[in-house]
Amino acid sequence: MRVYCASLATETNTFSPLRTDFSDFEESFYAPPGEHPETPTLCSAVFPALRRRSKDEGFDLFEGTATWAEPGGLLNASTWQKLKKEILDQVRSAMPLDVVVLGLHGAMIAEGCVDCEGTLIENVRQIVGAKAKIGVSFDPHSHLSEKRVKSADIITVFKEFPHTDFVEAGEACVDLTLRAARGEITPVKAVYDVRMMDVLPTSIHPMRGFVDKMKAMEEAGEVLSASAIHGFMAGDSPDLGARTIVITDNDLTKAEETARDLGEELFSFRGIAKPEYLPPADALALAQKATSGPVVVADVWDNPGGGVAGDSTLMLSEAMRQGISSAAFGTIWDPMAVRLCHAAGEGAKLELRFGGKTSAFAGDPIDAVVTVLRNQRDAVQSFGASIVPLGDCSVIKVHGIEIVLNTNRSQAFSPDLFTNLGVDIASKKILVVKSTNHFHGAFASVASDIIYAAVDGPYPNDPTKTPYTRLTRPIWPIVEDPHELETA
Ligand SMILES: [Zn+2]
Repeated sequence: MRVYCASLATETNTFSPLRTDFSDFEESFYAPPGEHPETPTLCSAVFPALRRRSKDEGFDLFEGTATWAEPGGLLNASTWQKLKKEILDQVRSAMPLDVVVLGLHGAMIAEGCVDCEGTLIENVRQIVGAKAKIGVSFDPHSHLSEKRVKSADIITVFKEFPHTDFVEAGEACVDLTLRAARGEITPVKAVYDVRMMDVLPTSIHPMRGFVDKMKAMEEAGEVLSASAIHGFMAGDSPDLGARTIVITDNDLTKAEETARDLGEELFSFRGIAKPEYLPPADALALAQKATSGPVVVADVWDNPGGGVAGDSTLMLSEAMRQGISSAAFGTIWDPMAVRLCHAAGEGAKLELRFGGKTSAFAGDPIDAVVTVLRNQRDAVQSFGASIVPLGDCSVIKVHGIEIVLNTNRSQAFSPDLFTNLGVDIASKKILVVKSTNHFHGAFASVASDIIYAAVDGPYPNDPTKTPYTRLTRPIWPIVEDPHELETA
């Protein structure tokens, strides 16, 4: 048996002031064939899984390119063409292939191509033929097009948000695709269009129970796989919104019924699945009242993981206005300020302008006299089993607030974002992190409380107000009852 794998992933916020280039892939993660590390990245967990299976089971594994760019703005056409060609050339030269496994994200949009992943899977199918099995894994914050469903045999999706199960989703994709190739199963899949765009964290009710239910169905052998796409509201895609996917062993009726049942249940969670988001002033005032620290305040919308710049100063300005004197902020993206801090040196005191540079909606830059506490080349943070580069970083101090400035945009995943840079988080009253929910996995254990703050501005956070141009079907909350319209 001959098996090929590749991973191509980013998440495109088509409303972001940023643009995505090949250098963004190189900066975040780019592994040429054979150079994938032993540890998985969010979307490349199929690599280590296939290596292990290939060693144990003796099939030929052809490892292709694996790359990921931190979520950002529109991908330029030449980078998309280059990466697509690279992978398709590798597929051609590895032929004949029995299996192709692709670790994708699913929300990539390029100049001239709205459905990058659908196009890639379709092109792979054209090369490998109808008999080969194609398995793909997606992030739930993606757009599930008909093209993807048609061209892939197996689709798995991270069930958890935060995506703590990305390794399991990669392993499940590999396992089902290999079993299908060996004829041990005959996978058939059904998709239900939930027609809803909402934020659906699975750490809390009702999504917690929903994920447990999907897992129980798989464990009981009722279905081969059950998944939910949540959708990605910052991407202008005709396929925007939630969908459920169920794969059974040659039982289409069961797959369709289960996908519909799960989809209708998911639709019933609209508007009630996310925790309360407070205005920044209220969130910080509430955090200040806590008797023990640190309270983690999430700046949910200025989340580089959603493709914004991550240089908003709105929360920090509010903290300074309230006179907060024991806090740490991670991170504010500002390569220019980091360069100045490195030049000034640790311990230096200087007048620095930082943050608020990339968009009119992210607040003004801050001008302050700062002390440089720490300069670090190539800083990192962890995200589960994967290592996330932050680039060169500086920690600066302003009126008792310590701020991590970074050069590689990244959302806050783990407290080691602070501790690797010498910030003593236990002594801080408040930790402000830019992340919608991924921070929750690792920060929950160090936080005395967690508060979500919604800064309005940098991110298109309300679908009823976002100027989508490609939507072709009604979805909630833009339409109150999209399913009624569908059947009317
Ligand atoms: Zn995601």
